[in-house]
Amino acid sequence: AVNRTVHPADTLVTVGGVTIGEGYFQVIAGPCSVESEAQIIGVARSVKESGATLLRGGAFKPRTSPYSFQGLQERGLEYLLAAKRATGLPIVTEVMNQTQLPLFGDVDVLQIGARNMQNYDLLKEVGRCRKPVVLKRGFSSTIEEFLMSAEYIVAEGNPNVILCERGIRTFETMTRNTLDLSAVPLLKQKSHLPVIVDPSHAAGIRSLVPALSKAAVAVGADGLMIEAHNDPANALSDGAQSLDLDQFRDLCGEIRRRAEFE
Ligand code: PEP
Ligand code: MN
Repeated sequence: AVNRTVHPADTLVTVGGVTIGEGYFQVIAGPCSVESEAQIIGVARSVKESGATLLRGGAFKPRTSPYSFQGLQERGLEYLLAAKRATGLPIVTEVMNQTQLPLFGDVDVLQIGARNMQNYDLLKEVGRCRKPVVLKRGFSSTIEEFLMSAEYIVAEGNPNVILCERGIRTFETMTRNTLDLSAVPLLKQKSHLPVIVDPSHAAGIRSLVPALSKAAVAVGADGLMIEAHNDPANALSDGAQSLDLDQFRDLCGEIRRRAEFE
């Protein structure tokens, strides 16, 4: 069970030599979408140098409009694997439905996106494999519903679930979503699972990402997932919220300096 009263000890998720959970803070970074082999390898090298310990990149993209870029799909997965070979970084990428799972054999961490948080068939199927999962909170889901979705995965035998707060819908329109910072300590009190924050999708605005990242650290997040791109102005998805590689390096430096100061 994900409930801390049933299972009091913190769950630590280890993947490719990287451990995430209470006391083990990690930064997942990379572009919203994989756009080419050279792009993802270049971004991977840069974010690794800056301090990221896992590489993200979407190959199958859940886009609001069917006319928007849908991701490079299988080719995107191949390029991610090339970036993993080039840098050693474990990779995190979204699986949109259970029929895609056979393609994800060499992927280190499966991402379940906000739009799929209550896709119970997908949750059950990823629960039947042992691969670590980043489960993103649905943008209209309560914390109780979020935890129940994690329960679907754990109940099928996969304990390696990382919860990701990525902002929820509110009346506010100036940000893409509203980052629910209280979800972080609440989730950590209610459950033993690692909790990370995605400030990029929460804000939708690049300039807010550093402040929200630091806020996430302050409320006890076990990690961050940050969109970082080689050329945000020309990104095929989510450019407005993506840090460029220099901004990402600066943010990592700031977070590291704060951790050393504590
Ligand atoms: C993403 O991580 O690129 C993504 C689509 O996130 P979310 O599911 O949180 O919208
Ligand atoms: Mn995105």
